[in-house]
Amino acid sequence: MPLNGDVFKLFDTHCHLDLPELAAAQALHWQQAQQARVAALVIPAVQQSAWQNLLDLQKQQPNWHIALGIHPWWAAEHSFDAIAALDKLLTAHSIAIVAVGEIGLDFALDETTFAIQQQLFIAQLVLAKQHNKPVILHHRKSQPQLLAELKRQQFGSGGILHAFSGSQQQAMAFVDLGFKLGIGGTITYERAEKTRKTVQKLPLESFVLETDAPAMPLAGFQGEINTPAQLALVFDTFCQLRPEPREQVAATLWQNSLNALRLSAA
Ligand SMILES: [Zn+2]
Repeated sequence: MPLNGDVFKLFDTHCHLDLPELAAAQALHWQQAQQARVAALVIPAVQQSAWQNLLDLQKQQPNWHIALGIHPWWAAEHSFDAIAALDKLLTAHSIAIVAVGEIGLDFALDETTFAIQQQLFIAQLVLAKQHNKPVILHHRKSQPQLLAELKRQQFGSGGILHAFSGSQQQAMAFVDLGFKLGIGGTITYERAEKTRKTVQKLPLESFVLETDAPAMPLAGFQGEINTPAQLALVFDTFCQLRPEPREQVAATLWQNSLNALRLSAA
């Protein structure tokens, strides 16, 4: 439990509150998250059919920020019509939509999806650049290819490398391009030695926190649905890995989240 006077707020920069596992009790999850000091979150879309609902949710709850995009797992179900539709929404709702996401490349999927994944990723990166929006990046076995494409497109709007895991060197490559590293429940697993070391070594300005709820349950909660309230435990583990006082860690992570999403206040 937090100590008396231990006042801070947390930002869950990646939470799929719109997916059925959480949507069924959305208000309750948000209430519990707030009790755990989560004061704001980002809901990244995974497919086109989610976009309108997210725009509606954002109107009701200003502390829920939204990103619209097509996740690589759903890439094969989309055509280029979706890119034109996204372009229109980014124009019409340029303030409500804080980022393009969740986009990226997942090379752990079947090889037959690679071509469409790549085409949609590049098209969405181009849109983000045109609309001057940061991106929320999904990666699996694809960090070098993501880096190469960001450089090829001279992508300067930054964003968040979601669910970061990897070495200090891998991390710095993205930080150097203006990205923050999204740190989630992975660090609660002792076996995630490389990622835990990276959290210890890089400047505090490199990181934001996330749950990726309902996915990515923390150590000790395997098999359960993850929720945004669990961010408090990610934060506790994060603090154990850092030399700075908790208040400083919290304040810096909060500011990092605002910076990555270009929010002046939240
Ligand atoms: Zn996600």
